[in-house]
Amino acid sequence: MEKLDQLRQYQDLFAKIELFRSEIDKRNQKVSEFEEKVAQMLAERAPHEERMEQGRGLARKFEADIADLESKIAKTQDQLSSATQASEYSGLRGQIEKYEADKSALEENLLTIFSKIEEIEGGLSDLDQRLGNARDEYQELKSRVMEENSDFEKEIGQMEAPLREARETVDEELLEIFDRLQPSLGSKILVSAAGGTCGGCHVSLAPQLMERIRQQKEVICCNFCGRVLQC
Ligand SMILES: [Zn+2]
Repeated sequence: MEKLDQLRQYQDLFAKIELFRSEIDKRNQKVSEFEEKVAQMLAERAPHEERMEQGRGLARKFEADIADLESKIAKTQDQLSSATQASEYSGLRGQIEKYEADKSALEENLLTIFSKIEEIEGGLSDLDQRLGNARDEYQELKSRVMEENSDFEKEIGQMEAPLREARETVDEELLEIFDRLQPSLGSKILVSAAGGTCGGCHVSLAPQLMERIRQQKEVICCNFCGRVLQC
């Protein structure tokens, strides 16, 4: 039946354009997924930076406390050198010993903080390394996708006029079926009935129906899915 062949021609063009569109979507999807990944890595940075700031703040406080103790020690040593009485002398000595003990405890804390900061810095530079790599990869992906998509767009553009022309030739009844089913079933609306089953939904077709399809005198649709059948 000629009108089935016309539908076939229209359907093939339609399917090709659909395929190109879905390829474009797939590539755009990949780009957005990658953007998401980079955003996640950036978000990972914030808590590390916060810990680093806390660590640095603590280190500054310890350093100030140590400097304070050092000046107290120096002052007490001055007093010590001018002490005249034994009791005054041993009191000042005890004071200095206490300051020294406090100072070395603080110095130990400071060292712990420094090694923590170093650890965080290591983690951050590792993260930045990965972020840098991801950004490079992203740029590469994006430019490749833009190039490929523009090729697809070009192909689609070239098929738009033939599609319009093919549509004009399609029988009204068949076009109505195609437009009604296509949104839910996709672009394969005219299907083969070879083997006695519907090429769309694979339901078995009755022998009488098969005979009518073979005769090609009328448009026969699958009773189950509604697709147009052709032998
Ligand atoms: Zn069917």
